[in-house]
Amino acid sequence: MSQVIDGKAFAEGLRARVGTAAVGFEAKSGRKAGLAVVLVGEDPASQVYVRNKGKQTLAAGMNSFEHKLPADTSEADLLAVVEQLNNDPAVDGILVQLPLPAHMNEQKVIATINPDKDVDGFHVVNVGRLATGLPGFVPCTPLGCVMLLKDRLGSLSGLDAVVIGRSNIVGKPMAQLLIAESCTVTVAHSRTKDLPEVVRRADIVVAAVGRPEMVKGDWLKPGATVIDVGINRVPGAEEGKTKLVGDVDFASAAEVAGAITPVPGGVGPMTIAVLLRNTIVAAHRNAGLAFDE
Ligand code: NDP
Repeated sequence: MSQVIDGKAFAEGLRARVGTAAVGFEAKSGRKAGLAVVLVGEDPASQVYVRNKGKQTLAAGMNSFEHKLPADTSEADLLAVVEQLNNDPAVDGILVQLPLPAHMNEQKVIATINPDKDVDGFHVVNVGRLATGLPGFVPCTPLGCVMLLKDRLGSLSGLDAVVIGRSNIVGKPMAQLLIAESCTVTVAHSRTKDLPEVVRRADIVVAAVGRPEMVKGDWLKPGATVIDVGINRVPGAEEGKTKLVGDVDFASAAEVAGAITPVPGGVGPMTIAVLLRNTIVAAHRNAGLAFDE
């Protein structure tokens, strides 16, 4: 039976370290670090995320600025809000909650965020910085996955890693981060031939697919470390109830893997904790202060 990687506990520790850094930042700069979150419309899942982000930002000793705009806000008005936040010295990090309503061009909105306040790491400048090994901001979910991997394995150098999924927010930055850790990286996707055979080569498997319990235990090399990014809501045991499952079939995978993240309680809690970490890093950089990890 494999070790279960406790992302909830790791995220708690990370948030505590961010809280300490936030106190230090305030003492040095004379102001609190600040994160601005912009939400357009009333998507229920996005509302929950934004509420949690706000609460955790305040709990870490930083200012939280929430901008809630109606669903029919024009793109020009949203861009004006982003520009205002770009120019506000009290705002160190800006996050525009995705998805945006269909009448808005997400790429254009992301491109308007000052890259030095882009704590989500989605701006092309930060994508380029990650690809070329320059300091920038890395998307929170994959950075959280690497933190969990390094905590469990120490050095990742020379390990074979398979990332299933090639999205801009998880799969691709995950692959870049693993390359930077000197892994040998394979990126699999919906056109990959014989996926189980590809996965069987891996010391590290990162599943970011969005398909409930797709990766089975018999796809894994014995002892592999499995990071399950997937969050899928499926019918629960009780009539009318639902439950969350990952992209990995936990029961069979836990029989073979060396270590595995559960869903919920694995990667999920890391995302906001890393967002707070990126914000305190941004605050230090924007104020010209050194930041000790
Ligand atoms: P996307 O839908 O953007 O990407 C899914 C990827 O999976 C695509 O590259 C797709 O391939 C690939 N894929 C789809 N079907 C298969 C298949 N049968 N075999 C192999 N590959 C396949 O999803 P995201 O990257 O945004 O998210 C992935 C999962 O992670 C979701 O469950 C999401 O909810 C979760 N998530 C969790 C977060 C967290 O905080 N823990 C944060 C972000 C996401 P192709 O490119 O060929 O279409």
